[in-house]
Amino acid sequence: MLQYQLSVFIPLDHCLWRFDVSGEVRVRFAPSPTGLPHIGNIRTALFNWLFARHHGGKFIVRVEDTDQARLVPGSIEAMLEGLRWLNIDWDEGPVVGGNSGPYYQSERLHIYHDLAERLVSQGNAYRCYCSQKPPSQDTQEQRDRRVSASAECKCRDLSQEDIVKLSVDQKSNVVRFAMPKEGVTRVKDLIRGEVEWRNETLNDFIILKSDGFPTYHLAVVADDHLMEISHVMRAEEWLPSTPRHLQLFEALGYEPPQFAHLPMIMGSDRAKLSKRHGATAIGEFKDNGILPEALINFMVLLGWALDDKTDLVSTQTVIENFTLNRITKSSAIFDQEKLLWMNGMYVRELTPVELAKRMTPFLERDLPKDLLPVDQQYLQRIAPLLQERIKSLEESAYITEYFFKADEKFDTSTIIQKGMDRDSTLSALKAALDGLSATDDYRHQNLEEMLNATGEKLELSRRQFLGVLRTAATGRSVSPPLFEMLEVLGKDRTVSRMKNAVERFSAAS
Ligand code: GLU
Repeated sequence: MLQYQLSVFIPLDHCLWRFDVSGEVRVRFAPSPTGLPHIGNIRTALFNWLFARHHGGKFIVRVEDTDQARLVPGSIEAMLEGLRWLNIDWDEGPVVGGNSGPYYQSERLHIYHDLAERLVSQGNAYRCYCSQKPPSQDTQEQRDRRVSASAECKCRDLSQEDIVKLSVDQKSNVVRFAMPKEGVTRVKDLIRGEVEWRNETLNDFIILKSDGFPTYHLAVVADDHLMEISHVMRAEEWLPSTPRHLQLFEALGYEPPQFAHLPMIMGSDRAKLSKRHGATAIGEFKDNGILPEALINFMVLLGWALDDKTDLVSTQTVIENFTLNRITKSSAIFDQEKLLWMNGMYVRELTPVELAKRMTPFLERDLPKDLLPVDQQYLQRIAPLLQERIKSLEESAYITEYFFKADEKFDTSTIIQKGMDRDSTLSALKAALDGLSATDDYRHQNLEEMLNATGEKLELSRRQFLGVLRTAATGRSVSPPLFEMLEVLGKDRTVSRMKNAVERFSAAS
């Protein structure tokens, strides 16, 4: 049997309860395979995982695939892939197995059937023979409402005789839970505090459908009990289902777990998060060049805070400090700009070797094929030059392309700097080419000294001379610090580009 206890409740600013947990912590992430994993699902997974790791407990993944009408092939694989990418490991569940399996609810149907039978024989549930509405794509809440509305049926009061007759006629039926008609059901939510419902407002919900599959309500209660879940931490949208679950726990004689409903995630316009707020599917973040560690940090702050000022926080620190009293009640705001800023900060922390490694798939995806494969050692020297300048790895190809291209075929007029003409520009290019061909010392300090002297001799300002050089070497007016860049580019490439610039410029004159 599970044991955990709540210590003294102390009200805090942003949360109702402070509590300690003792006994084994077992939490679960219970996705339904009904679509691609998005920030909402994964934030739930992350908070459960952090809570388990903080308490040295177990994190379980359970696939809630009982709503056959809404199954989307590939969504569980994408969900598991998302977790793996984020380094959120699970102790029990698909692939890894465990003692409380199977972890797919569709493989546990006999359990739900037995429980439904038991509830019927105890008088806590009854067969309902009213016709059913067809399954639809609506949300759990809408379905609950629909189920409530359709619960106007009289089957609860059928006589034994009627029931026998109906079953002999082989009329299809569902099993409904017989909600108590009086009293209240109270949920002591660890985040939201105490919430209560009048039982008369909770109609007789379906627990077993006519296709033989349980509804979410029965399956979740059965499995949370059988898998010895100590804390159910899930999105706030499930709070209205909780009194039904508590009634089921009671009818089955099970001790319920603790509940903690996580705040909603809203867009920066405070509307429910959706596609129009930008990327929300986990795969998109990956494709957009977000680092998993940055996304973890970002998601941690969607409802949790170390204090009122810390934004950048390592996963280890979060694990050490992950108590539920730091979870806010108010909605979390999803701010793409902040994610990008945070990602940039994480990019800066990578070693050159690591950054090169992380950039490589993006280069392979986005660079022209004739520039591939990329020389890793060269990339490791390029990467630090750009580290401060990129916010996401998605920029990798654009920002490094000129390092790999043979020669830049830019519009020669862009080489002429303000206050210069064609003649002075051509002289500057030739002088630079001479100097850069004559030396073998491509350390940036040497290049700086040599080229600054050349510029002075030509009576050009630094801005002008270096502008000519930069454009000739990269085809762009903006680049990382010029001399460091030339050092990495190396003599062969630099000289070839200067030559190319002189030739093209002369031909165009
Ligand atoms: N299967 C539900 C979902 O996909 C999980 C609800 C719960 O955690 O109880 O969100």
